[in-house]
Amino acid sequence: MSKLTEHYRLLLGLDAPWEVSEVSLSLEEKCVEIQLVHRGGAVTCPECEAACGIADHGPERTWRHLDTMQFETVLRARTPRTKCKTCGVKTTTVPWAGKQSRFTLMFEAFAIEGLQACGNVKNAATLLTDEQKGQARKLISPNRAREEASEQAPHPIESLPHGRGSAAHTLAAHSFCVLLQRV
Ligand SMILES: [Zn+2]
Repeated sequence: MSKLTEHYRLLLGLDAPWEVSEVSLSLEEKCVEIQLVHRGGAVTCPECEAACGIADHGPERTWRHLDTMQFETVLRARTPRTKCKTCGVKTTTVPWAGKQSRFTLMFEAFAIEGLQACGNVKNAATLLTDEQKGQARKLISPNRAREEASEQAPHPIESLPHGRGSAAHTLAAHSFCVLLQRV
């Protein structure tokens, strides 16, 4: 493990069996990509929580993370799938993000703090550059944007339940990005 990958592992707070296998920097695209790899061993079934072996790994996924300096930062990984005797093959959860979220827990926490400090999404969005708004828009599909915008706007920030990784937390982060489209 190089000093750089170990440095990023510590920054992300990851423990074995997850490791940072590669960090690539694109000066042109102002982007840092962090490749994560699961080194094997027992995994936990997301349905019944039994310890089981690994069946295989799902397709590569990406998660938007907090920026490294002014560089957009993305995590990449293939998530192991369990071989559970009771439930069959299931995709495991990852320690850095909620189930099915495309944002890391740290990114979501940042979005929530921004919203809380600003009082509402429109005020929070004024803190972002046009480039950052563009990046936020890329994170959501047009269909999902329409669905969430109609259900969530305007979202009273006081009503958001707390708890990192909760469905409400993830929804709030998504809503933040969705509503940026209206600014
Ligand atoms: Zn199971």
